[in-house]
Amino acid sequence: MPSRTARSHGFSEALDEVLEDLKAGRPFALVRYNDGEYKAVRGERYTAVDGWRSPSGSWWLKDALAEALTYSAPGYWVGITPSCCGIRAARWYAKQASGRQTFGTIFNNANYRRAQAELTKVDAFWVASDSRADLVIPKDCVTDAWDYGRIIESILKATKPVFISAGPLANVLIHRVWQRRRDVSLVDVGSIFDTEVLRTYQDPSAGLQNHVCSWVYGSKVAAGATAPATTVVIGGSTAVAPGVTKVSTSSGVRVAPNTKPSG
Ligand SMILES: [Zn+2]
Repeated sequence: MPSRTARSHGFSEALDEVLEDLKAGRPFALVRYNDGEYKAVRGERYTAVDGWRSPSGSWWLKDALAEALTYSAPGYWVGITPSCCGIRAARWYAKQASGRQTFGTIFNNANYRRAQAELTKVDAFWVASDSRADLVIPKDCVTDAWDYGRIIESILKATKPVFISAGPLANVLIHRVWQRRRDVSLVDVGSIFDTEVLRTYQDPSAGLQNHVCSWVYGSKVAAGATAPATTVVIGGSTAVAPGVTKVSTSSGVRVAPNTKPSG
């Protein structure tokens, strides 16, 4: 991806860059921090829709997850919650992440359909709990401690882009591997291919597929936006109903009230 911060460009363009880099074989790493990670990395109790849990207080992955968030290295992108999907998380993440930032929701919401269609076309090495993956990991690889060292060793041998679906563990794996090799792309694809549990962003009737994420920091609108809902779905969010939508125009940006998306 080009060396600029993603805050200056749009949601659809951010996905374009990921797809272009994959197509061109330009290696990059992309970790993603959304609602679930926000709670988990801060030591708050969280239960994801697909079953993994983080308890309150200490949790075996907490420190590793924090390290992957604050890590900065060439080609290492940290996707964080954009303010439209949770102003509190957005502000907190923006302070923690020191590297290049992009949308944590880059494969969700209005980008979901296209991300799913285009990423499927990539010849990738899959790490997921699905039995069709190249490297199959436990269904819940997050709640309780286990030795994921062999997963790292396998990823280190991969000869094509690595797509990882492993909840917050994906970020830890990507961080650990990027410290040792930077010649293949490592992407936290999250739950976009998981059809077992329908996420809000995957459900056309929920309207999130019309939700174009945006960066709105420190504005009056941002200050007036509702705090993130407490019942949120990893990677999706409940779109904080009275939130905001930033509409790019040739003359700049216009901030408009977010009409509750309709399917
Ligand atoms: Zn959003």
